Formats: sequence, C-alpha cells, structure tokens
Amino acid sequence: ALPFVYAVTPTYNRPVQRAELTRLGNTFRQVPRFHWIVVEDSSTRTEPVARLLARTGIPYTHLNVLTPRRFKRTGMPRATEQRNGALSWLRAHRSRKDAGVVFFADDDNTYSLELFEEMRSTRGVSVWPVGLVSGRRYERPIVEKGKVVGWYTGWRPDRPFATDMAGFAVNLQVIIGSPQAVFKRRGSQPGMQESDFLKQITKVGDLEPKANNCTRVLVWHTRTEKVNLGNEPKHRQDNVLIEW
Ligand code: UDP
Ligand code: MN
Repeated sequence: ALPFVYAVTPTYNRPVQRAELTRLGNTFRQVPRFHWIVVEDSSTRTEPVARLLARTGIPYTHLNVLTPRRFKRTGMPRATEQRNGALSWLRAHRSRKDAGVVFFADDDNTYSLELFEEMRSTRGVSVWPVGLVSGRRYERPIVEKGKVVGWYTGWRPDRPFATDMAGFAVNLQVIIGSPQAVFKRRGSQPGMQESDFLKQITKVGDLEPKANNCTRVLVWHTRTEKVNLGNEPKHRQDNVLIEW
C-alpha cells in the first residue's frame, strides 16, 4: 500500500482562516492516502474548524496548542508549538509499523497535486523547489549527480538548509526514530526554523531531491493579503447568524 502523507497545518483565527482552510481542503481531498493534522493556535479546538474538517471528508486529526503571548511578536518564528504538537501526536499514535511521510503545510500556501506524489517516496528527508519565496521567483536546492550540493536562494545563502517549511518532507520513521527532534524557539533566529530542525535529523548530502532533480516548482509560498474590513458596522447589524 502507498505510504500515508501526513500534512501538518498550523492555523489561527483571523478573517481569512475559513477561506484558507477551504482552499486547502479542496486540494487535499484529491490526494489519496492523505491524513491532515490541523493544529489550531488557540486554547481550544474551535467549533467552526471542527465542522469544516468534518465536512471535507478528509481523514484528519484536530489538535490545538496556544502560542504563549510572549512569542507572538513580529520577527519571531511562527507556529513552532503547533508543529511540535503534531510531531508529539505522530510519535504517540503512529509506530514502527506505519509507512508515512510528514510534510509541513502552512494554511496560506498553494500546493499542486503532483507535489504529494513526489514526496510520497521519501525514504529519509526529501527536498524540492518552492516558488515565490526569499525575494525571488523561487528558491531551490542545487543538485549535481543526484545530490544536493547547495542552494539557489535570495535570502541568507549561509543557512545550512536554505529551504522553506514547504520545501521538504520527512519519512515518518525518521520522526519516530529521532524523538528529540523538534522545532526550536530558544536560540533560533528568524527564518532558521527549517535549518535548525533539519540539522537534527539529516545531512545535506543525504537529502533526496524530488521534482525532477529540483527543477520544477510544485508548491508556492503564497501569502494572503490582509482583508479590508473598514466597512464593518460598529455594532452587529445583520439579523441572521452567518457561519464564516
Ligand atoms: N500561524 C499560527 N499562529 C500565528 C501565526 C501564524 O498558527 O500566530 C500559522 C499560519 O496559519 C501558517 C503558519 O503558522 O499556517 C505560518 O504563518 P504565516 O503563513 O503567517 O508565515 P509566513 O508566510 O510569513 O512564513
Ligand atoms: Mn505563509
């Protein structure tokens, strides 16, 4: 049987949340052997997200971890606690017998269906290009003779793994077999979360290039514009309860 793809999506409440999760659900529901781990940045699992997940028809796990307020400042890495919450869940609920691949799927990115077919064969840690990131049209691992030898990037090429969260996948057995590997806050500089995590579980020379030796962009680091709610009434005026 095909290994499962476990996609970890941290998400938080804001006006576009429901639209983001709807768009992701429409993509993910077309992927076979897919398990969606949605981790809300909140003190509870909220009812609207629970309902949305149930309606997608996708196998899912709904978790929540609230980011401590002191970590909610600009320039600080986002969703560290949520991704770690998903790693803990996988280590507690999956075992040596389960074939799977773990991928970190932020709620605002754009994912092609082909990406999931590429990552499914990941034996250790795989990598591929990511579009619309690092101030360039794309960022990508540079591959020579089937090995990653460097990074084409517009931002901090000195990063040990100059890739975005959406640019790699990890075999479930690597996650289970390295129980101490986590996303770090302490000592982690902005934008170094990926490198700090990956250096705990792999080496650059061991990375498996996907997407035709990292020459195809199959995922985009799109970002959703902040919505203009300037015309919202001060006091509630609509007379029906709208589920949004
Ligand atoms: N996120 C979160 N809590 C926050 C901010 C972000 O859970 O306070 C989630 C967000 O929903 C997304 C991921 O963390 O899935 C990355 O955040 P964002 O897309 O804002 O980061 P960027 O695009 O700047 O890397
Ligand atoms: Mn984003």
